[in-house]
Amino acid sequence: MIEELIVTIGFDLGGTKMHAAAVDAQGNVLYSERQKTEASGGADAVIERMVGLVARLRQEIGPRGSHISALCVGVPGAVDSERGVVDKAPNLGWDNVPLGPRLTSALGIPVFLDNDVRVAVIGEHVYGVGKGARTMIGIFVGTGIGGGVIVGGHTHHGGRGVAGEIGHMTLVPHGPRCSCGRRGCVEALCSRTAMERDVRKLIKQGWDSKVLKLMRKEGRDDLTSSVIERALDDNDDVMRKVVKDAQYHLGLTVASLANVLDPEVVVIGGGVTERLGERFVAPIREHAYKHFLVQRDREKVHIVATELKDRAAPLGAAHIARERLAGRLDSAPGARHGTASWPVPSA
Ligand SMILES: [Zn+2]
Repeated sequence: MIEELIVTIGFDLGGTKMHAAAVDAQGNVLYSERQKTEASGGADAVIERMVGLVARLRQEIGPRGSHISALCVGVPGAVDSERGVVDKAPNLGWDNVPLGPRLTSALGIPVFLDNDVRVAVIGEHVYGVGKGARTMIGIFVGTGIGGGVIVGGHTHHGGRGVAGEIGHMTLVPHGPRCSCGRRGCVEALCSRTAMERDVRKLIKQGWDSKVLKLMRKEGRDDLTSSVIERALDDNDDVMRKVVKDAQYHLGLTVASLANVLDPEVVVIGGGVTERLGERFVAPIREHAYKHFLVQRDREKVHIVATELKDRAAPLGAAHIARERLAGRLDSAPGARHGTASWPVPSA
């Protein structure tokens, strides 16, 4: 098929919701839809729902449905993109799930897998705040903290294909315990989970705060981005302190990475940033700049909030599917994560 006519699907598989978009060669979203993941139903049921959602997309875009030529899934966890296997995705409760081959045999098109944050960083790089950047860093703040690094215009995968784990850089050696089992990682200090832990700790110590009341009002027992926003609007001392600490540590993280990579763009994304935008990013930028080793032209490092928000991952995934289909990602030196090695039916 002529490359210009090809439609690819970008699929953001989240722990709570899935979001798929059919995208044309110009990056236009022809149709997109969000559905609940219902991960508790197990991997088989989730894969069935994914197949159903792709079928919906095919149907919704009419005759162009027959132009859908590849799919890329952003997975919240570690993937072996060569074998098409999800090694570990804690939010889905998945271990060693052969998602690529399963989807390929159900859909009859090549399927590629990548990490969800790496995919979102590509989305921002191609269509969002990072357009044209050669070197770029993405940090996504949510339940955990995900990251991605672009060097020379391409995602840096590293020798084992696992690069980009910014959330597990050690910031405080004897700091709070992280989900990975170690202590003092960025994620253990700055994620929404870490903020919630600190809010509860301060309240236990006797600080006055409305946060727990706001959580109950939303019918939640966890700290959501909208509760954070409301508490900040109310000038809640506990929330202000906790967010401030997270911004400080994120600033140090950005500075450390910038001192190593000297990026043109650092995009801060994830649910908290989508909600708070510049209000969340401005103090991070300020702390980061203060800790730049070389102060000259520091504003040339653009530290900005996500532009595409939750569209970054599906758009990035659709782009990756297109590039991998064309074999373009294989040509990058050292990139051996571009080819599906399981049998792909001929289109
Ligand atoms: Zn960690």
